[in-house]
Amino acid sequence: MTGAVRHVRATNAPGVPSGPGTVAALYVHIPFCAHKCPYCDFASRATARNDARMLPYLGKILEQYSELRSVGLLEGCDTAYVGGGTPPMLGGGLVDLSLAIGELGTLSEFSMEANPESLPADLVGELAQTPLTRVSLGVQSTDDVELAALGRTHGARDALAAVESVASSGLAVSCDLMCAIPHQSDATWRRSLADVLSAGATHVSVYPLSIEEKTPFGARYAGTRPDFNDEAVQARRMEIACDALAAAGLRRYEVASYARPGRECRHNQTYWEGRSYLGIGVAAAGMLDRTGYESLRRACPQLPVPLPGIARVRLVVKDDLDAFLASSSCADLHFSGEMLTERQAVAEDLMLGARLARGIGEDLLSRARGVVGADALDAALGRVHRSGLATREGGSLVPTRRGWLLGNELYGELWGLSEGTIATFAC
Ligand code: SF4
Repeated sequence: MTGAVRHVRATNAPGVPSGPGTVAALYVHIPFCAHKCPYCDFASRATARNDARMLPYLGKILEQYSELRSVGLLEGCDTAYVGGGTPPMLGGGLVDLSLAIGELGTLSEFSMEANPESLPADLVGELAQTPLTRVSLGVQSTDDVELAALGRTHGARDALAAVESVASSGLAVSCDLMCAIPHQSDATWRRSLADVLSAGATHVSVYPLSIEEKTPFGARYAGTRPDFNDEAVQARRMEIACDALAAAGLRRYEVASYARPGRECRHNQTYWEGRSYLGIGVAAAGMLDRTGYESLRRACPQLPVPLPGIARVRLVVKDDLDAFLASSSCADLHFSGEMLTERQAVAEDLMLGARLARGIGEDLLSRARGVVGADALDAALGRVHRSGLATREGGSLVPTRRGWLLGNELYGELWGLSEGTIATFAC
């Protein structure tokens, strides 16, 4: 463990802009959790604290990070995010990972995900001495009955103690909260929102529970939509969150994300702005423009040559944990992916931009006009305007509250501007 070394904390100033052949953001996936929550379909696995695979996994991550760095992909990288899973399962190894990633020297924000019970105060103290700037805590609720119904292993007291501990360490703290869950009422939802703010959260993400098919919740509620998760309940709770968080000074800057001024998550904004990012680890996803993909192919020559006319490549690491541990370099990894044309990429950018409160800016609309044609773009914008899903503000297209509540309709209209089938690959 090397946490004793003091590093200069990254600031919120914009990083060095990433250039051709590079990515704006780095994501590292840690797939370990103390237990598997019954609603979770993320790439994570229940893992014993003494599981002998955790340290070798960290070793592989560090090797691949060095390899990808050596081909220049991470030059000028602006943000990093270590997610999962539950990264603090790595214990002191997380300090080493944070120090290694901090060596990039260009990060304006560096976040890590954690669960309240996974983050002892001494680990928080050590992490606060590394280049890490921000912790995102999976609080979900501050009601013990609701937490038990979600199968979470922490209680309300642990959750609030973790928020306070991170906030008092000087790291920025974000909380994930979940609505439309068993036993929740409007009043308990309001209390959860208020509790995390009082404990020191400066960023809050709110999500309705999604009941996924291949999970224990999916089996339990198969073929039904339980009352607690009804669409009207989801919409009402999201509206309550919007009003309560705005009243407390947190601005909604994305459909599910609220922050005090200056505390918006720059890393997630990279995703919504259609800028390139690289994923390292089991099931990690990346999205690269053509030049970034060419850099990645220098470390991963097994990746296919991009087809003519391809502007963007999305890819996911397909190796399971054992195969990942058996790999000797990035060249051994397996991927599945998609190659998007310029038209598909711009339609995707419009769809992602519609998640943001500032909406789709003039620059993107003008790029889209050049790619899909003025007639097609104006017809789609007219339809979303007439159906009350978005409105024109200056040169931008801004989603309305109705547009956010009926997000799939809004995003569907914009994605409808793409053409053809997305080319897929596996290697
Ligand atoms: S802690 Fe998070 S990632 Fe882990 S099983 Fe629960 S919901 Fe999934």
